[in-house]
Amino acid sequence: MIFYGTNGTHLRTAALSQLDCPSCGTNVDLKVSLFSRYVHVYWIPFFPYTKLAVVQCGHCQMAWENKALPPSLAPAVRELKQQTQQPFWTWAGVALVLSVMVFGYLHSIRDTHTDEILLANPRAGDIYTVRTDSANMYSLLKVRQVSGNSVELVANEYQSSDSTPIETLNAPAKYSNEPFVLTRLDLQIMRRKGELTDVDRLSE
Ligand SMILES: [Zn+2]
Repeated sequence: MIFYGTNGTHLRTAALSQLDCPSCGTNVDLKVSLFSRYVHVYWIPFFPYTKLAVVQCGHCQMAWENKALPPSLAPAVRELKQQTQQPFWTWAGVALVLSVMVFGYLHSIRDTHTDEILLANPRAGDIYTVRTDSANMYSLLKVRQVSGNSVELVANEYQSSDSTPIETLNAPAKYSNEPFVLTRLDLQIMRRKGELTDVDRLSE
C-alpha cells in the first residue's frame, strides 16, 4: 500500500495596502497569505500543484479564500502569486526519481562501453552471454584461450530464460568439454546482431 496525499506549506504573507477591504471599506490592515499545496508520497514532497490565497482584513476580521475572492482583490492576489515561487523542496520526489533514472542511464552507457572494450580484447576466462536459438533463452560461452585472431570457446550446456544467467550457469561442470573456435570478427558480428548480449571478465 502506498501512502500519498496532499499537504500544504505557508509561502508568504503580504500587505495589500493600496486596496480597500470589500467588507468594511478601510485600507488599514488587509493582508494576503499564500500557501503551496503539494503532492506527497510517504510524506516526501513530490511536486507542487497549486497555490492557495487567503485574504483577511485585520480591521473587521473578514476573510476570503481562493475561489471566493472579491473581484476587487483578485488582480493583486494573482500578481502576488505569479511573483511567488514554489519552494524547491516541494519538487524533492520528482528530483529524486529523475536522478535515479539519470544514474541508471549513465550506468548502462558505461556498461555497454566496457563490454565493447572487453569484447575487442578477448582473454581466457571471459564469459559471453548469448541468445540461444530458442526464443528468449540465454546461455554462456567461455573463452578458453586466445591466439592471434582465433578465440577458442566452450559452450555452456544449459540455458536459462534469465537474460543475465551467469550466476546460475557459470559452473565448470556445466560447460562442454569440446571447444570450438570463432574469430574476433565473428564475435563482433554476433554482438552487432544482438546475439551476444553481455561480456563479463570475472577475474578482475
Ligand atoms: Zn475589513
